[in-house]
Amino acid sequence: MENIIVQKYGGSSVGSIDRIKNVAKQVVKAKYSNNKVVVVVSAMGNTTNELIEKAMNVNKNPSSREMDMLLSTGEQMSISLLAMAIQELNEEVVSLNGYQCKILTDDKHKKARIMDIDSTRIKKELEQGKIVIVAGFQGVSQSNDITTLGRGGSDTTAVALASVLNASKCEIYTDVDGVYTSDPRIIKGAKLLDRISYDEMLELASLGAKVLHPRCVELARKYRIPLVVKSSFNNKCKGTEIMEANNVEKVLIRGVSLDESIAKVSILEVPDEPGISYKLFNELSNNNIQVDMIIQNINRENINDISFTVKTEDLKDVQTISSELKNKINAKDLVIDKSVSKISIVGTGIAGNSNVASIFFKSLYELGVNIQMISTSEIKISCIIDNKKGREALQYVNQKFKLCGECYILEEKVV
Ligand code: ADP
Ligand code: ASP
Ligand code: MG
Repeated sequence: MENIIVQKYGGSSVGSIDRIKNVAKQVVKAKYSNNKVVVVVSAMGNTTNELIEKAMNVNKNPSSREMDMLLSTGEQMSISLLAMAIQELNEEVVSLNGYQCKILTDDKHKKARIMDIDSTRIKKELEQGKIVIVAGFQGVSQSNDITTLGRGGSDTTAVALASVLNASKCEIYTDVDGVYTSDPRIIKGAKLLDRISYDEMLELASLGAKVLHPRCVELARKYRIPLVVKSSFNNKCKGTEIMEANNVEKVLIRGVSLDESIAKVSILEVPDEPGISYKLFNELSNNNIQVDMIIQNINRENINDISFTVKTEDLKDVQTISSELKNKINAKDLVIDKSVSKISIVGTGIAGNSNVASIFFKSLYELGVNIQMISTSEIKISCIIDNKKGREALQYVNQKFKLCGECYILEEKVV
């Protein structure tokens, strides 16, 4: 039986009619390399942002259900256009939206998680020799409502399909040559990585490297899906493979990322008693709101401050939930600070080398950057800093760890 491969093309890769025609050729070529091809596409170019803007012009606070109904149309437009471009090349093709593919999700609109995919229809179409084009970023909840998977979620559709179809690989085509040590649009001379481990990629993606949706990396790691990120414009470049750590060359630091879309939330003067954190973070998690760093200070007897960071896109919900809790528990104040960014270094070498943290903190000190919060794991260190200093700090930390320019340092030759 022929190999199944899943390809995903992002917004800029299908950003114009010429680009769609180009993708059509690439897809047909993949089919003739003896593959059954399933293609996931995002909305064209800036379409999703434009749809959001339209919604805001109608209603500043639209329901999440209606937003999903609207946003899902972007991908529906691109799947049909790509299918037409493939028909023009005289190939059999069918486009399917999330509903038709039975991509079942939970009911958390705007950030739904895929629960299951019934692949019967896709398999049937593939058996008939068709190329199958699937709308990324969307699914359907148990109550039959259209849901979306969160910004950048088409990557996750692709990996989830690769998993249920037992595909031999999942190729993510984008507008850069692969995964770099830092965002190549911000850091001049950032290095293209040949390989990166699932764990490191998950950290980079979760910490702001939007080249892959974090959930897509999580799924790829869980189901061991061979994942490759490459350019849809430059077919000379092999791109970046994401794989098991033991197949990846060991380095101290794999990359540095900057997340500029976060906010710091502080609940001040909270009574110090059991259950307060549980109530707050349980409510946030029930709403699929991801909380990143959490700090609780004991300031004086029986009174704490709790601070945590969230994505700015979740801020409205976080504000409502935190404000209700603040009143319920008699805390003194709720402070939201949007003027922060998170800078993080990621690499499997971090765990065994205490020098790394000190180099990182020293770099920030040398720039006169104050660290407001720190969090660490085996393979990352993150700091919350003033967002005005974010990009300068990103460049400087890259230089300090020699992740841009000529030398890319291996574990033995630490800085
Ligand atoms: P697509 O529309 O193809 O899904 P995205 O805009 O979501 O593309 O992601 C690609 C972008 O991710 C790049 O244009 C780049 O600016 C950004 N990016 C951020 N960090 C990195 C990184 N470490 N490596 C590569 N790209 C990155
Ligand atoms: N179109 C959606 C977005 O812009 C999903 C995606 O591109 O992956 O976020
Ligand atoms: Mg994307």
